[in-house]
Amino acid sequence: MSTNAELFARAQHSIPGGVNSPVRAFGSVGGTPPYLVSGKGALLTDVEGTEYVDLVGSWGPMILGHADETVVNAVTDAASHSLSFGAPHEGEIRLAELVIDRIPAVDKIRMVNSGTEATMSALRLARGFTGRDLIVKFAGCYHGHVDSLLAEAGSGVATFSLPGSAGVTDPTAAETLVLPYGDREAVHEAFTEHGERIAAVITEGAPCNMGVIDPGDFNAFLLEKAHAAGALLIVDEVLTGFRASATGAHGLDGVVPDLVTFGKVIGGGMPVGAFGGRADIMERLSPLGPVYQAGTLSGNPLATAAGIATLSQLDDALYAQLNESVTTLISAFDDALSAEGVPHTINRFGTLFSVFFTDREVRSYEEAKSQDTNAFARFFHSMLSQGIYLPPSAFEACFVSKAHTPDILDRIITALPAAAKAAAS
Ligand code: PLP
Repeated sequence: MSTNAELFARAQHSIPGGVNSPVRAFGSVGGTPPYLVSGKGALLTDVEGTEYVDLVGSWGPMILGHADETVVNAVTDAASHSLSFGAPHEGEIRLAELVIDRIPAVDKIRMVNSGTEATMSALRLARGFTGRDLIVKFAGCYHGHVDSLLAEAGSGVATFSLPGSAGVTDPTAAETLVLPYGDREAVHEAFTEHGERIAAVITEGAPCNMGVIDPGDFNAFLLEKAHAAGALLIVDEVLTGFRASATGAHGLDGVVPDLVTFGKVIGGGMPVGAFGGRADIMERLSPLGPVYQAGTLSGNPLATAAGIATLSQLDDALYAQLNESVTTLISAFDDALSAEGVPHTINRFGTLFSVFFTDREVRSYEEAKSQDTNAFARFFHSMLSQGIYLPPSAFEACFVSKAHTPDILDRIITALPAAAKAAAS
């Protein structure tokens, strides 16, 4: 049996950086990523047989925990009928109806294969609908690796301190106006100067890819500003959808945007994204309208089965449990870090939270970047060595699941004092 280090070394020969998504390489915290062989509930096991309590949840989808029996059975059953039809089937309608019933902004929805595809398609649709070219985004918000949205993006782009990405042409980058998050004056100026060219403002339901930031009433402000100028508001709920609350960011701020993007939870761990919104906008999509969008595997039976089986289990009791778990964890993180005098700020949005290693208030990317990422790395490795798997970046949210029962939370809480000591050292 190979060790984690052996597999990581072997992967360097065949996969760039050894990983299929940059943050998995542990670049900002150092060390070797565990190579996982199984997940059950809140627990992960690597090739060396080490068990971890998972606070990553595959970056969001695993809201029911790993290998949830209902989801696995649904996927297994679907697989026995066909892995992909590339043709209509009833599961697509059932998943669409489940989302439309719950999310007021969504009259119609189309499935894609990732969050990136969802935001990319939503931008094209917004441009096709308005006949305008510019998009407004916010520094530190991550919307997937769409060329035009990589400027000052969060997530891996923040983790590696990149301004954007090589390979994105200047004309493409110039179609995106990047503004500081929460800066109403900057939004006002952008609309005053370019209002007639702005197709849409895109923002995360709550920023979670520079760490978590509560948007307060910023999304409502953006909706008003966009509509006053004839532009659309796209709320990217790939991460927050069905996660921050039963109805995502909408459930916490009540904002009904023109378009919404989904991913992660909506696919229950399968490669899924979706975008939906107002019927008059969605009907501009091919085959009804002139905006082309397609996918060989879009709405495939396994993905829709996992999505249906996941969404069907998300009830009020689950969100109450997740909220309680997060309250317990925040207080434990706060106590442990305070006891060691480690500067920290904990932000929360519904069932999502993150710890910033700074005592400043964090409301923007600039403030998030001011944290002590070395202290985070020491904290992270102490937790990992005690069997707690945190996101390997100081700019990510922590994710709890239904499987994070009190005994699992106790395992996390027990590890905190030593990790806080390591952060302080
Ligand atoms: N939008 C947001 C808010 C995200 O958090 C992510 C991924 O983390 C994406 C879009 C991209 O989704 P995917 O990684 O499925 O392409």
